Amino acid sequence: MSRSDVYAVAGKIADGLGGEPYYGVVVVEDGAISEVVRAPGEDGLPSALASVREKAAAAGKMVDAVHAGTSAIVPGFVDLHVHGGAGADVMDADPQGLRTMIAHHLRHGTTSLVATTMTASKEDIDRALEAVETFRRSSPLGRAVIGVHLEGPFISHKYPGAQNPAHISPARREWLEEWTARHPGLIRILTLAPETEGAEETIRYAVSNGVVAACGHTDATYDIMKQAIGWGVTHSVHCCNGMRPFHHREPGVVGAILLHPELSTELIMDGHHLHPASSNLVRQVKGDRVCLVTDAMRASGMPDGDSSLGGLEVVVRDGVARLKGDGSLAGSTLTMQAALSGLMTQHGLPLHRALPHATSIPAGIVGANGKGRIAAGFAADLLLFDEEAHAVRNVMLGGEWIDFQNGGTVE
Ligand SMILES: [Zn+2]
Repeated sequence: MSRSDVYAVAGKIADGLGGEPYYGVVVVEDGAISEVVRAPGEDGLPSALASVREKAAAAGKMVDAVHAGTSAIVPGFVDLHVHGGAGADVMDADPQGLRTMIAHHLRHGTTSLVATTMTASKEDIDRALEAVETFRRSSPLGRAVIGVHLEGPFISHKYPGAQNPAHISPARREWLEEWTARHPGLIRILTLAPETEGAEETIRYAVSNGVVAACGHTDATYDIMKQAIGWGVTHSVHCCNGMRPFHHREPGVVGAILLHPELSTELIMDGHHLHPASSNLVRQVKGDRVCLVTDAMRASGMPDGDSSLGGLEVVVRDGVARLKGDGSLAGSTLTMQAALSGLMTQHGLPLHRALPHATSIPAGIVGANGKGRIAAGFAADLLLFDEEAHAVRNVMLGGEWIDFQNGGTVE
């Protein structure tokens, strides 16, 4: 893009809150949305644009304008749970790998992600945190990383999923204290099993230090879940996967998620982790407490074949990643674009109704204020989204269009 003072994006806007789309001009200044000028209809766009130009000229500013054409203007996606992509994984603890992974997800519309670790030795988690911190400070794409999601190692031996059981540990508040002291503000979500020893004090510490406490990979009973909500658990990862299921005499973790509005939850909409009726049930009961995540591993964006996750061998067939050992699903190969498409297709939702689950809702869950909506004061993280093809055509991160021809660098 040319270096103008003001960037104007005109077209049909779906703002991420779920209302009917409308025509208008999104005005971007200094990396943020300064104004959204509504037009009475598509025909009103030229005059809306003219008013933006007039206002800018009066302030002595240049305007660079683009028309979204047949694409919709939508907020960038927010992914709270992503381990890897394009051959790289957060646990590789490699800033260059992080760049590769983030460019891959950015290309598919994710402008905010929470880099997710796995059950591993403390030293390996230390290294992963260090690498994310370094990447955030040193790369122009670092602004797409809103923090770290620690998934494990304080989880259940009964529901490890694709987490490496060799490194499962009782909950250790002192590890979390050390990590939050060393990297202030970096850790945004801690996923643990509330029934594990030491969970209460770890959850209480997390919450009082601004970390969202989430349950996952857990065998907690319904009663333990009720206690955990009292300790401060407010989120749950990949609903129905890796947790004690619903039983009519023991409602389990799934029953607690469905019943308690305090708990938000995640859906992996790849058509394999959940039957469409199950995800639809969860969405209809939980409403705006449901977000889409990818739970993507390094095979996202890669051809089928052998891969790995958290030190375990994985094989990917037809885009489905499974452990070589017991065949457990091993994360997904989703992107947020595909997850949103899955929600629209499997639940029969139009774009504007599916969109909040990929934007404003996850931003709210993790407290990423100023992300996930198209409104004045919000970050200029915008996508031009082709509604026919369910595909992201262009990506703006912090007011800059991303040039994918140059491997995902910011111009
Ligand atoms: Zn998981």
